[in-house]
Amino acid sequence: MKILLNEKALNEGVERLADEINETYGDKPLTIVGVLTGSVILMADLIRKLKMPLRVGVVQTSSYEGTERGALTINSEMMLDIADRDVLLIDDIFDTGNTLEEVTQLMKGLGPTSLRSAVLLLKTGRQLVDWKPEFVAFDIPDEFVVGYGLDFNDEFRNLPYLACLEPADIQGFTEV
Ligand code: 5GP
Ligand code: MG
Repeated sequence: MKILLNEKALNEGVERLADEINETYGDKPLTIVGVLTGSVILMADLIRKLKMPLRVGVVQTSSYEGTERGALTINSEMMLDIADRDVLLIDDIFDTGNTLEEVTQLMKGLGPTSLRSAVLLLKTGRQLVDWKPEFVAFDIPDEFVVGYGLDFNDEFRNLPYLACLEPADIQGFTEV
């Protein structure tokens, strides 16, 4: 697997995100909603760098089977009450944007004071929605990536770096 972002680069990216978020909200209380499962590592690293009073909830979405998209499902049972709160949605990657678009639509209906999103990665040129997250750590090329929370069939999330999963890797993996 080809390494796209090593541990040092990832850490610097998360540090940049945290600086921007701290600057935007100042001392105002913030409610974080992490999109499971891909955002777990980013959430753990990022929230420890945030300085405002913080509440942390999660929603779960899933759309991929292997590298192919299936239907999107959203489970918001563990989200926390977001009415009249400043809310920041956190996800691993903004690809087509459909996932965050659907979660955003769901959350807007619950009456937050403000709603923004932060992602580690944005895949260049892939968006099918007309907006982008306010906070983005890295723009990356259109490749399927794993590690630092991102999976292939639920594996590889624990890699401390971000790697491109190439067709040869996938073939080797499914043949084992
Ligand atoms: P979108 O809805 O923006 O197209 O896709 C967002 C979701 O798809 C992400 O939360 C992530 O779970 C998954 N995804 C998109 N691109 C990749 C990728 O390159 N690698 C992995 N592992 N997941 C991806
Ligand atoms: Mg995801």
